Amino acid sequence: MDILWAPWRSKYIESFKDEEQNKNQKGCFLCEAACSIGKERELLVVERLKHCFIMMNKFPYNGGHLMIVPYKHVANLEDLSVEELLEMMDALKLALKAINFVSSPHGFNIGINIGRVAGAGVPDHIHIHVVPRWNGDTSFISIISDTKVVSQALDETQQVFAEAFKKIKTDI
Ligand SMILES: [Zn+2]
Repeated sequence: MDILWAPWRSKYIESFKDEEQNKNQKGCFLCEAACSIGKERELLVVERLKHCFIMMNKFPYNGGHLMIVPYKHVANLEDLSVEELLEMMDALKLALKAINFVSSPHGFNIGINIGRVAGAGVPDHIHIHVVPRWNGDTSFISIISDTKVVSQALDETQQVFAEAFKKIKTDI
């Protein structure tokens, strides 16, 4: 697998250090997003289901990088019920449809990082990453080196995806 060069990830690692130090005050940002009723745009939540929700990654590996997150704050797949796991798969299907609707990628990387050693930024709250891929996207990403530009784009993209999920659900 190609390793994407994502300069804004360094910003993420910096903010993570702060979060580590302030863990008790700040809590888990995935739980914060889970409880973000009315603040979906700000916290980048794009769709809600019964047991899980879908949000944008604030530090994306690629444009349209989504995450499927259970409401339950658990570290492992074994801690989720079959019903919860099945709904996450259903959410994954919706996420793929939404990304295809918005930006027609050439492929996807879908994955779960379990444990910090495996690259999990939030090891206590499991989530599935969905990263759209385009031919030649590694060179495209390297152009986007300004974090501010990326975060502005995220804000707009949240609206685009929230609308896309509404559209997809009415089509089903
Ligand atoms: Zn959590």
